[in-house]
Amino acid sequence: TSARPFNFSAGPATLPEPVLCQVAAEMLDWGGSGMSVMEMSHRGKEFGAILERAEADLRELLAVPANFRILFMQGGGLGENAIVPLNLSRGGKVDVVVTGSWSRKSAAEARRYADVHVAAEDNGREIPVGWTLRDDASYVHVCTNETIDGVEFHDLPRLTNGVPLVIDCSSHLLSRPIDWQRVGLAFGGAQKNIGPAGLTLVFVREDLLGHAMDICPTAFNYETVAANHSMYNTPPTFAIYVAGLVFQWVKQLDYAGKRGLAAIEQRNIDKAGLLYAALDASAFYENRVAANCRSRMNVPFFLKDDRLNETFLAEAKDRGLLQLKGHKSVGGMRASIYNAMPLEGVQALVSFLQDFEARHG
Ligand code: PMP
Repeated sequence: TSARPFNFSAGPATLPEPVLCQVAAEMLDWGGSGMSVMEMSHRGKEFGAILERAEADLRELLAVPANFRILFMQGGGLGENAIVPLNLSRGGKVDVVVTGSWSRKSAAEARRYADVHVAAEDNGREIPVGWTLRDDASYVHVCTNETIDGVEFHDLPRLTNGVPLVIDCSSHLLSRPIDWQRVGLAFGGAQKNIGPAGLTLVFVREDLLGHAMDICPTAFNYETVAANHSMYNTPPTFAIYVAGLVFQWVKQLDYAGKRGLAAIEQRNIDKAGLLYAALDASAFYENRVAANCRSRMNVPFFLKDDRLNETFLAEAKDRGLLQLKGHKSVGGMRASIYNAMPLEGVQALVSFLQDFEARHG
């Protein structure tokens, strides 16, 4: 229905077109208020309704239990790498499982505030086994989808020693259900599956509130943010509004006889299946991640002959397939196929892959 190109950016990333259209239509006058959402007081009744609905829809979509608070914060995933230890570690022990670039960064940042132990580590191609966890750790950190490496946990670890699990789910948040039984705290930036950059979502179990270190900035103290319903300071109002529209878009999505989060998850499974099958069927391309932890969201791949990389990217762009260049630390290509990427976008990519191989292979 659209002439826009397909955008495979890792984030900020493609958004659902109906949401962008609605934002455009409401830009000058939201709901007859005479104001853009950008111009409203965050404490007015208009924005209050926007935030309340966004939170309720998100809670419903992800089936967030009543004993979890949802916080709309700022600071991004990297901000949370400091904010989490400031709130949960009490300066004590933190265990981190390193599965790629983002969890490695989390370990390094937490080290400024806590006694960090890397419980297991891998090179970004599989989830390591044999974790050496400490029973007296204040929490265990994992990144459940490594955006750069393309490694995803398809099952959350089940920690049996009562230590809370913290998950950085930035790049697959809202793409699948979360098993809250296994989670103490989840965080993620909005700019992949949810909306514009500038909004960070935090889901925190209530018993983990109230333990912040003295040096924790007040605006980043989860207990303060929760007590003030994400309004201790001015929240990222416009980003929350767009995120709220994305939640409504997910809720009404129909796919393969499913609706809402189940529909988006099934669509993500099908999209990823299509792309990995095409890569695996070819000797011209290669994905190096172990089959049991390949990401549904971020698919890094390599051309066997990397001298063709620039030609590949230029031809892809001509075909309306944007931002396929891999992260500089990994090289090669990466297709990020978040919630808003339609099946047709992946089909177009697959047909380009095959066509490019036929001409250059
Ligand atoms: N964690 C993960 C898994 C990410 O993908 C990213 C961003 N790509 C970050 C953390 C950092 O997020 P931000 O740039 O919002 O600080």
